[in-house]
Amino acid sequence: MSTLETDLGRSPAPGSSGGRAVAGGEARPPAAPAERRPKLMRQTDLIDRVSRYNPDTDEALLNRAYVYAMKAHGEQKRASGDPYFSHPLQVAAILTDLKLDDATIAAALLHDTIEDTATTRAEIDELFGGEIGMLVEGLTKLKKLDLVTKEAKQAENLRKLLLAIAADVRVLLVKLADRLHNMRTLQYMRPESRIRVAQETLDIYAPLAGRMGMHEMREELEDLAFREINPEGYAVVSERLNALAGRQQHLIAEIEDQLTRKLADRGIAAKVTGRRKRAYSVWRKMERKSIGFEQLSDIFGFRVLVKTIDEVYAALGIVHTTWPVVPTRFKDYISTPKGNDYRSIHTTVIGPGKQRVELQIRTFEMHEIAEYGIAAHALYKDELGSPTEVLARESRAYAWLRHTVEMLSEGSNPEEFLEHTKLELFHDQVFCFTPKGA
Ligand code: MN
Repeated sequence: MSTLETDLGRSPAPGSSGGRAVAGGEARPPAAPAERRPKLMRQTDLIDRVSRYNPDTDEALLNRAYVYAMKAHGEQKRASGDPYFSHPLQVAAILTDLKLDDATIAAALLHDTIEDTATTRAEIDELFGGEIGMLVEGLTKLKKLDLVTKEAKQAENLRKLLLAIAADVRVLLVKLADRLHNMRTLQYMRPESRIRVAQETLDIYAPLAGRMGMHEMREELEDLAFREINPEGYAVVSERLNALAGRQQHLIAEIEDQLTRKLADRGIAAKVTGRRKRAYSVWRKMERKSIGFEQLSDIFGFRVLVKTIDEVYAALGIVHTTWPVVPTRFKDYISTPKGNDYRSIHTTVIGPGKQRVELQIRTFEMHEIAEYGIAAHALYKDELGSPTEVLARESRAYAWLRHTVEMLSEGSNPEEFLEHTKLELFHDQVFCFTPKGA
């Protein structure tokens, strides 16, 4: 279930943007004609989205933030020709997919006002309270950080970024949604800025999303950045994926079907879904294993979601006694969870049609954390604690963040810190992106 892929603000497919601008030139794709532009989401639509997961939402607050931001941005336009306000509105919409609280949604609506309009922090505080004021100011500071720069400067900026996130993790959640929307509409920017933004996304924001356990977000950010930084690589992988998928599309339904029935026969009600892998993850695998596309047979991944941990292992037993297991591909992240709270069983079997089938087996609850990561915790306030205290108790990702911030307050030199943070950030993935031919 990729809830981030809503119908909102999806950028057109690559190649449909009316031709790439020549590098170094000023050419941009023409702005979309007015009649083809999506209508602005109405206040009531936004409120509906929030009320679906938060019946106690403060409608008056969201309405005020909506109207205030719309008026503040006034006649400002995005490079696409859309009213500027469409951007903060889409950022807020992305955050409703992550089911975030009213303060975060309001901060999303207001996130560019201090930087881009006459609005001041004092004004936000007065109208919306200090909590929202603090979030908007945090986001304003992040906007000025250039994270792809000379090493010493980069260390300093990365430090500021982590400090802002540690102060309130919701700053990162809005920042990631902001970056996602900017990446989805990247084709309208000038070529020089496109590459810089895409590189920063790939180097910093996508790994940070992953480190916070937000896998869906990380994958989409990576894919969009890959498309920009290495258009040829992206095109080659996508074309071949399309060709393979065309020939094997029936297999997804067949495997979903067989698995669901096998498990049902043994009394396990499982939700099985197959999906194509994304271009960037296939590309990275090819690079990591130095293999050609022909050897890469497992382009589909399947998820088996069940209710309890007992059922996870029962399902695993059924899978392993039904199809031959591919050795060395079995991983149990339930008995040994990853540092970002990710829990799941991974295995690969030779399934129907001699097709290699990659499986992730986990409970619905584990799946929630696997998709939303820290955002899945960020909302759950209880009588005992503020969101931050709950986070500190429940989330290893958040514990990592706190630890990293503590470490940097101990004042290691910038180069050391940069080296260490990068290692921490990338430790669960192979960092070998080389834009060949770019
Ligand atoms: Mn923005």
